[in-house]
Amino acid sequence: MKVFISVDMEGISGLVRWNDVVTRGIDYPLARKLMTLDTNAAIEGAFSAGATEVIVEENHGIEDLCNLLMDEIDPRCEVIRGAGRPGSTTMAGLDESIDVVLLVGHHGRAGSRPGIMAHTVSYGEFRSVRLNGREVGEPDLFAIRAGEFGVPIGLVTGDQVVAEQVQAICPWAGAVIVKTALSNVAARCIPPARARVMIEQGSAAAVSKARAGACLPYTAEAAPYQIEVTMKNGIGEALAANLKAMADFEVLDQQTVGITASDMDLGFRRIAYLGYGNRAGLTRY
Ligand SMILES: [Zn+2]
Repeated sequence: MKVFISVDMEGISGLVRWNDVVTRGIDYPLARKLMTLDTNAAIEGAFSAGATEVIVEENHGIEDLCNLLMDEIDPRCEVIRGAGRPGSTTMAGLDESIDVVLLVGHHGRAGSRPGIMAHTVSYGEFRSVRLNGREVGEPDLFAIRAGEFGVPIGLVTGDQVVAEQVQAICPWAGAVIVKTALSNVAARCIPPARARVMIEQGSAAAVSKARAGACLPYTAEAAPYQIEVTMKNGIGEALAANLKAMADFEVLDQQTVGITASDMDLGFRRIAYLGYGNRAGLTRY
């Protein structure tokens, strides 16, 4: 039983504001520890329910996707971290050998109100990301990519908003709501020590459910995918010129880029390019 855990930071227990999840924040070192401990709780639950292998992949685009504390992470797992991963960064360890995906510390999609630090891939650049006409967040992209491999989403941890968004497309997935978002940067939080007990139980329940065959791969979206990204700051001249030269991108208007992709590996890479490619100093994806 091989379990894949994607761990992000915005949905970690106790964290509510951007300064909690960026290097300059006064609580960033503590936030990294809380992220590591939420992850450990999920790992513990997975092994207690029969996992034989746990792959953890870092999903938070700060510090080249190296946020977990490596000397405190459960030594039974393996961790994929660092920028420049081949394929769709943040999904490098996801393949058909995985039995279930757990999303730990994830967040609501761009435009969610409330929703702690809600965004899709790039908070700074994207106003919204739509797939076949509907608004999507990062969990949707994971669910689709995992579905291409026949792998289900089993669990999400974070606020009530991401929980509802994941269960809307994967009703079999468990949800551990560690905080109730009151806005995009304020929440009523369950203290991390108690939240971790809930995460461990939720993870164990999800792995048990997946072992019983009761979690289904998400396959409702048919490839090829039509993706539209609305840019917050418009499309600059250089980016517009590059997009014009690439067949899978189409500039639809001054703020919107259309993308076609035959699978979500390519879809994710093209979305990430819009957010992080073609910009000096940004190597997050
Ligand atoms: Zn993040």
